Amino acid sequence: MLTAREIHKSYGNLHVLKGVNLEISSSEIVSIVGSSGAGKSTLLHILGTLDEPDSGEVLIEGKNIFALNRDKLATFRNQTVGFIFQFHNLLPEFTALENILIPGFIQGQSESKLKKRASELAEILSISHRLDHKPSALSGGEQQRVAVARALINDPKIIFADEPSGNLDTQNAHQLHELFFKLRDELGQAFVIVTHNEELAAMADRKLEMKDGVMV
Ligand code: ADP
Ligand code: ADP
Repeated sequence: MLTAREIHKSYGNLHVLKGVNLEISSSEIVSIVGSSGAGKSTLLHILGTLDEPDSGEVLIEGKNIFALNRDKLATFRNQTVGFIFQFHNLLPEFTALENILIPGFIQGQSESKLKKRASELAEILSISHRLDHKPSALSGGEQQRVAVARALINDPKIIFADEPSGNLDTQNAHQLHELFFKLRDELGQAFVIVTHNEELAAMADRKLEMKDGVMV
């Protein structure tokens, strides 16, 4: 469902990605490991359409995403791609449920449809009883699960996660890792996960290592 070909990216004189090639299948969970500075986050941002390569192409569901104009790309991103970061970035003044619904409202979906979807996701993520609370009243693990539900509200085909358990203790990290597989089994998304967590890296269907701007 995703193909990246010969991706190059430099910041000034720093050649960070040096011809990355990658294929991800539907419903596949791929982990990307590698030392700090290898270019993992830069690659993830490019695959997720948040940043552009200097050269090379990314096809998602056959669509050459960097050939789309800015508006079409924004719509495509909102419909197709979900993101989970190390720090969940929930909006503190909104409840968990409101945080989950926001990307769906931006997408223009009906409130009843969104609420139904949110309650299904909350059930899978075991946060149904926490939806009326603001983020500050939730544990770290619960906050991250709310962020996962938010990433899934528009039913994306592929989720990009950058150190999703980097800020969690061992037990909450383990629970989150199991949930990625449960979600994939029940909903069918592909996941591309950059991680230093050995448990998560090893659980993936495929573990890729980046070194100095290439896949090794
Ligand atoms: P990681 O945990 O992957 O090592 P970094 O700390 O390298 O993450 O990068 C975190 C964010 O900061 C990334 O979004 C990256 O684009 C940005 N960043 C990293 N290094 C620089 C830099 N030298 N100048 C500007 N932005 C940077
Ligand atoms: P990783 O995720 O593997 O740690 P990154 O992709 O975050 O690697 O960074 C790769 C290299 O690119 C690092 O040397 C980092 O400092 C640099 N870098 C990342 N983002 C930026 C940026 N926005 N501006 C300048 N340098 C950056």
